Amino acid sequence: MIYQHRYLDGSSLHLPVGKVVCIGRNYLDHIRELNNPIPETPILFIKPTTALVALNQPIQLPVGRGECHHEVELAVLVGQLLQNAEAKTARQAVAGYGVALDLTLRDLQNELKKKGHPWETAKAFDGSCPLSLFLKPEALPHPQAIDLSLRVNGEIRQQGNTQQMMVGIFELMAYMSTHFSLQPGDVVLTGTPAGVGPLTSGDVLILNLAGYEFSARVA
Ligand code: ZN
Repeated sequence: MIYQHRYLDGSSLHLPVGKVVCIGRNYLDHIRELNNPIPETPILFIKPTTALVALNQPIQLPVGRGECHHEVELAVLVGQLLQNAEAKTARQAVAGYGVALDLTLRDLQNELKKKGHPWETAKAFDGSCPLSLFLKPEALPHPQAIDLSLRVNGEIRQQGNTQQMMVGIFELMAYMSTHFSLQPGDVVLTGTPAGVGPLTSGDVLILNLAGYEFSARVA
C-alpha cells in the first residue's frame, strides 16, 4: 500500500510525501543508555520517502541484519518551505503532529559507528519509518510539553515528555533548515527518549502521543 499523509479526523491533507529529517540524540536519558557523548551540535540524518509506511500496516523487519530497535518519536509534518528559517517561522509552518518509529538496525549501526562510517544503511532502509495519522496543530497547543510513550505487548518500554528535548521542536526545525530545505510534505523526527530495544515478530505496539493512542503490529 502506498503511503500518504492523512489527518486523524479523516479530513484531506494535500501534501506530497517527502523526506524524513531526523536528529540522532535529543533526549539526555537516551544518550546515557547508549553511552554516547552529548553532541555539541545536533546530529542529523535523513530517511528517504521509501522509508515511510503507515503505522497501521504490519511492520516488516529486515531479515538477517541483526536487532531492529524501536525508537518512538514525535513526528512533525512540514506544511511550508523552510530555508534558513527562524524558530517562530518553523512553528507557523507545521501542518500536523504525529508519532513515528525510527526503526534502527542497532547491531549494524554499532558496527558502522565503530568504523566511523555513516549510519545510512542502519536507519534509512525501506519501511524504517512507520508513521501515524496526523493531529492538526491546534489539537496540540503546547507541543513542547506532551507525553510520549510506547508499550510493547502491554509493557511500558519508552516514556518521555517533549520537555526533555535538548533542542526544542522549532529550534530543531530551524537548525535543520540551515542544512537541508524542509519542503511541504517533509517530516521531522525529534529524537527518542530512553528505553529503546529490539522488536520481534508478533509484537503488539501501542504508541501514545498526548493521550492519543495508535496501535501497530510487527509482521
Ligand atoms: Zn531516533
